Amino acid sequence: MKRKIYVLRYGHRPGRDKRVTTHVALVARAFGASGFILGDIVDESVYKTLMKIINAWGGELHVEMGVNSFNYCETWRKEGGLIVHLTMYGLHVDDVIGELRRDPRDLLIIVGAKKVPGFFYEIADYNVAIGHQPHSEIAALAVFLDRLFEGRELHLKFNNAKLEVIPSPRGKRVKRTTMKD
Ligand code: SAM
Repeated sequence: MKRKIYVLRYGHRPGRDKRVTTHVALVARAFGASGFILGDIVDESVYKTLMKIINAWGGELHVEMGVNSFNYCETWRKEGGLIVHLTMYGLHVDDVIGELRRDPRDLLIIVGAKKVPGFFYEIADYNVAIGHQPHSEIAALAVFLDRLFEGRELHLKFNNAKLEVIPSPRGKRVKRTTMKD
């Protein structure tokens, strides 16, 4: 069975993180993760946007919201999965990505919004830095997945897509399939 790669977004604040959290989920999907978990809270507007994109552009992203982030990590651990926490304080991605790529275990990638408690630093098998400067969870996740998949994820084709881009040097060309809702 294919290795499961899920992204857990911790600390989402609906008042200020909607757009960033939506982009974290979209990056998870577009860059080859198989699941997106929003910890501790349900955000209908993030969910709706995500479903709209999946409905139009395809793919089979597993989505869960409102699960307890702490329990989720513990269960992932107990079931034999590997946990990576993306943080500027961790080990440089270049020093660990080879091991992570070779490891056959399912992989849970944690990214924060608000301050991430020590629990996640402790439970993670690897705390991984995408460089040691503060930047963004969206950028961190994109670079991490791109390094993990060595760029192959940018050529992914998604199942059940109603829309598909026809690459064009200028303007927008989109192929529509005949599938209807
Ligand atoms: N204020 C929060 C704190 O003190 O933990 C972090 C805010 S930061 C914008 C949000 C998330 O981006 C972090 O939890 C981390 O997952 C990710 N992030 C930011 N810079 C990173 C870096 N250089 N390497 C890895 N992840 C990074």
